[in-house]
Amino acid sequence: MISRAEVDKLLSVRAGWPLVLSLYLWVPLDPAARRGLPARTDELFALAARDGPGLPALVRVRAGDRRAVRGLLAAHARDWLGHTVAIFTCGQAGLAEAVPLPCRLQERAVLATRPHVRPLLLAIQRCPAYRAAVVDRRHAWLFQVTGEHIESTALPPAPGLRSHGFSGWYGLQAYRVNERIIQLTRHHYHDTAALLERAARATGPQPLIIGGHENSIAPFLAVLPAGLRDDFAGSFVADPHTLTPAKVRDLASHVIRDWLSQRDQRLLTQFLQQPPDGLTVAGLSACLAAASQHAIKLLLVPAGGLIPGYTCQRCGALSSTGNGCPHAAAQLAVPDLLEELAVTTLSDGGQVETLHDPPGRVCARLRYPLAPA
Ligand SMILES: [Zn+2]
Repeated sequence: MISRAEVDKLLSVRAGWPLVLSLYLWVPLDPAARRGLPARTDELFALAARDGPGLPALVRVRAGDRRAVRGLLAAHARDWLGHTVAIFTCGQAGLAEAVPLPCRLQERAVLATRPHVRPLLLAIQRCPAYRAAVVDRRHAWLFQVTGEHIESTALPPAPGLRSHGFSGWYGLQAYRVNERIIQLTRHHYHDTAALLERAARATGPQPLIIGGHENSIAPFLAVLPAGLRDDFAGSFVADPHTLTPAKVRDLASHVIRDWLSQRDQRLLTQFLQQPPDGLTVAGLSACLAAASQHAIKLLLVPAGGLIPGYTCQRCGALSSTGNGCPHAAAQLAVPDLLEELAVTTLSDGGQVETLHDPPGRVCARLRYPLAPA
């Protein structure tokens, strides 16, 4: 499962020349379709080749990297069935890594001076690891879902009152018994919340989903500490004793899908409702100027498409024309300005989010107003 730490590790790889190959490839389940993988990779390699201003010679996938990709596919394609795999190779930088991804992404091959990570950021955003807690008055099961992997823990049942104690009790005694049951249930919810909190401390915040009978979800939610309540992504109603881990993941996946789409909508609405304070920019040129000044706090990029352009190897200025700064001789052609924007934003400590259709195709919220050009 890909994480931000792994993205950062990949971004530390640098080559002096656009020799780092990033390949995003769908590995089909169907054996007949799988036989077409070598031809498909060749097609993608051909699309990655580029030439022209800002490049002293033709950039194309080298024979050693083709062999490395073939070798990885021959050895591991069976482990990646039904997945998009990201493969990064560069003989010069000693890089040969493959990362199976939890969601299906657009196929592409890119040659650049470092790994192309925009699709990885999208995978982290679209298929997050999450936790699910299934509770009833005496039982609780915790699930950690990470891509295909699901890990479950059953808590020991909370103490209950012996059932024969109920018979023939009336009035005040019945009331006391009822109070005692409520108290025990509350303790059980608190204990479960404490375990969830411990898990959250170990992994960092993750979306939390609660499942169970309708009359257990609300009281359990009410005892969650503030941090966990912020992680709450939604709930599903089911009889806990009929659930299997696979069923939990299936029910939770619908909740996560809705939560992600609401999150996207919220990001967009917040962006559109920003006051006209000069700290909101939309469109490629404005975002390039903002990134060149290390001013981006939040960048909203689309999922698809590569926008070729230039980066200055002396001052780091980004432009679509190669004249974004006075250093005409230091312009390097880059395959994707959206990737440059994303990586610059991340290395400046900003946040990058992928939206279906961000305003101006790409837009940003800034930390400070831009200095005039
Ligand atoms: Zn420059």
